[in-house]
Amino acid sequence: MTELVGRSISELKKLLADKSVSAKEVLAAHVKHVQAHDSDIKAFTCLTEERAQKQAARVDELIAKGETLPPLAGIPVAIKDNICVADYPTTCSSRILENFIAPYEATVAQKLDQAGALFIGKTNMDEFAMGSSTENSAFKKTANPWDLSRVPGGSSGGSTAAVASGMAVVALGSDTGGSIRQPAAFCGVSGMKPTYGMVSRFGLVAFASSLDQIGPLARSVEDTAIALSVIAGHDKKDSTSIPEPFKHQGPRFEAALSSDPEKLMKGLRVGVITELVGEGIEPEIVSSIRAAAAIFEKLGAKVTDVSLPNSKFALPVYYLIATAEASANLARYDGVKYGLRETDGAAKDSILEMYKSTRSKGFGAEVKRRIMLGTYALSSGYYDAYYKKAQQVRRLIKNDFDSVFQNCDVLISPTSPTVAFKIGEKTDDPLSMYLSDIATIPANLAGLPGISIPAGLGKDKLPIGLQILGQVLSDEVVLKVAHAFQQSTDFHNRQFPGLATVG
Ligand code: GLN
Repeated sequence: MTELVGRSISELKKLLADKSVSAKEVLAAHVKHVQAHDSDIKAFTCLTEERAQKQAARVDELIAKGETLPPLAGIPVAIKDNICVADYPTTCSSRILENFIAPYEATVAQKLDQAGALFIGKTNMDEFAMGSSTENSAFKKTANPWDLSRVPGGSSGGSTAAVASGMAVVALGSDTGGSIRQPAAFCGVSGMKPTYGMVSRFGLVAFASSLDQIGPLARSVEDTAIALSVIAGHDKKDSTSIPEPFKHQGPRFEAALSSDPEKLMKGLRVGVITELVGEGIEPEIVSSIRAAAAIFEKLGAKVTDVSLPNSKFALPVYYLIATAEASANLARYDGVKYGLRETDGAAKDSILEMYKSTRSKGFGAEVKRRIMLGTYALSSGYYDAYYKKAQQVRRLIKNDFDSVFQNCDVLISPTSPTVAFKIGEKTDDPLSMYLSDIATIPANLAGLPGISIPAGLGKDKLPIGLQILGQVLSDEVVLKVAHAFQQSTDFHNRQFPGLATVG
């Protein structure tokens, strides 16, 4: 049979449309691939094969009737385990939600289902999306397909590793401070955080509501764009989703991707963020970003260096705002309404002791650290000094972006200061882990769209990510620039060494 693993959306859809393969066969090939490799990679927290079988049967029926196929017909998709898929667990890789079964479906999952996708499974993550390596999962550590002794990045590490290893064609992640883009960089795939409000968050378990955004991961920009078109659009169930200009249906981002990179880049103004191409960034990464800038210039773009002076405050601002919001959002896990209820050691009639033992047992160390930090930042007497000050500096960071975007269409930088690090290397040093997100966090604070795409191999022959940021609602421009880069280079075609030999 034709090799079905490692294909793009358009390749699979062509095979389905001309009846060379069925959706059931596409599914079977991917399930077999998961069975062969997930014991090493550990990307999935649960498989949703039963659901996928039904979805595949529906697609095969459409093919048999000769109907036009929806955009993701027969495409295997993995979903991060903080996004609800009805009747399956949504654990957020936390003990506190270990036995929680989602009673309803997230809007993004509904949209994927309507678009014909096949749900392969739910994916591992840092507990409640807090982390940069997926090591904070209460269940298991996901490995980077390029080198099993290294982390895939995080917090959407399971989704990203699933795509990089061919176990899914597309995956959904969530990005609060870099959780789609940083793992995309570490695993050599494309990952996009759309403009804040572009994609509905109904059915996404909240971490930091003013920053959280769902987005797609795939092996090419084209596939990322197709998936974003499916999930984007206003949703009346999410009051933070943008009502215009996508009121009735999502835009079709892939339609804007011409195959002529010069046409895409001509006249565009590209800014290189100087604060992110110097000290603290691995030298191979800096050279790759400079080389990318030269490629854009050759394609007809005008490239300049730009400065975001307040971005040096982004990390402390993020760790006050994100933790403050998390402390409020996670207050609901108290043993009463959701998941774990722990009465061990608690006096029978003391509800406070029940809360205490439930939360002590149910949350891992990083989640507890954040809840304490956030509660402190919000407490009376400290609120003005920490939380309010952080909000004010957030505005200054946003103002910096507004001013450079007067002369630039997109900004480029590394996605991460390092390539994928070893499992265990940073677990005892939260601060050095937090530094992983130094390049990605500013876009969340300002609500901007951003993508990470592969831009070369660095230390130990591991993937380097190029980050491209745009203004609010310029997601299409970001995708165009990213696509132009992929039309002129072949970094995205270098799959991890194992993929070619398995299937
Ligand atoms: N790594 C960052 C954190 O730990 C970002 C996480 C995310 O984007 N969900 O908070």
